[in-house]
Amino acid sequence: MQLHPCCPSCSSNELKHPIEIKDHSVSGEVFTLITCSGCGLLFTLNAPAAHEISRYYQSDAYISHTDGNATLFEKVYQLVRRFTLSSKKQLVERRVLLKKGFLLDIGCGTGAFLFTMKTAGWEVCGMEPDEGARAKASELTQTNILELDQLAAIPSTSMDVISLWHVLEHVHDLPSMLNTIKRVLKHSGKVFIAVPNANAYDAGWYGTHWAAYDVPRHLYHFTPDSISKLLKQYGLTVVDELPMHFDPFYVCMLSEKYRSGSMNIFRSLPLALASFALSLFHKRKASSLIYVVAHES
Ligand SMILES: [Zn+2]
Repeated sequence: MQLHPCCPSCSSNELKHPIEIKDHSVSGEVFTLITCSGCGLLFTLNAPAAHEISRYYQSDAYISHTDGNATLFEKVYQLVRRFTLSSKKQLVERRVLLKKGFLLDIGCGTGAFLFTMKTAGWEVCGMEPDEGARAKASELTQTNILELDQLAAIPSTSMDVISLWHVLEHVHDLPSMLNTIKRVLKHSGKVFIAVPNANAYDAGWYGTHWAAYDVPRHLYHFTPDSISKLLKQYGLTVVDELPMHFDPFYVCMLSEKYRSGSMNIFRSLPLALASFALSLFHKRKASSLIYVVAHES
């Protein structure tokens, strides 16, 4: 742990309200979340450094890098994924008012979104730090997938779209990442950042068992206000906030497992439905949000 910890967004060392959260999915270790008094960002205080964190991703349950289709859960997951991929494509094309262009997907995983966009005619480029996922993405999309340090080679103002689907909360070096995004985004371009929402209804209901804390893999636990303050420091501004409607179902199912020890869908489903329905009226309390981001004018 750092001796004099400070906020990764605004560098304030006035920190408050520590809460202890267990890593339920991999290590069983306990990590501390703390809130910055300056900008309100909730972050993981004692998270492992970038070179130490890979062992916390070693889990069969960490489904974002798998393409399994064996169990009922995996079949439903794949069905939902196909639907969300198509929704993301429509969202991107509507917001940038383009049907083709240059797209960079940061943290592209095994390349499903890149493949969807490339098939639709977009010029795509992906970055993925995990070697195994990178190889799969490269094979699927037939493009060279970049490593993290190769982002620096992307030409300035070259991208119409930059997407980070549940990625920014995993990024150790926020200044480097956000400066790169600002640099490579065209003046008319848009960034799509999906992250869990620490102000969500389901976060309040499940408390320390809320699955989307996902420590220590999630380094930051953003809210609409704290992410907006972070982006502003890099000359970026949030132009829209959109709820991700499927996320509460997955998050509540896992949270229920962490709270009660079993994957009881009859207990998690009513809460997920309530979170989904309430977020239609209070989108800033949705389980996860997509922030549509542009250059500050
Ligand atoms: Zn702060």
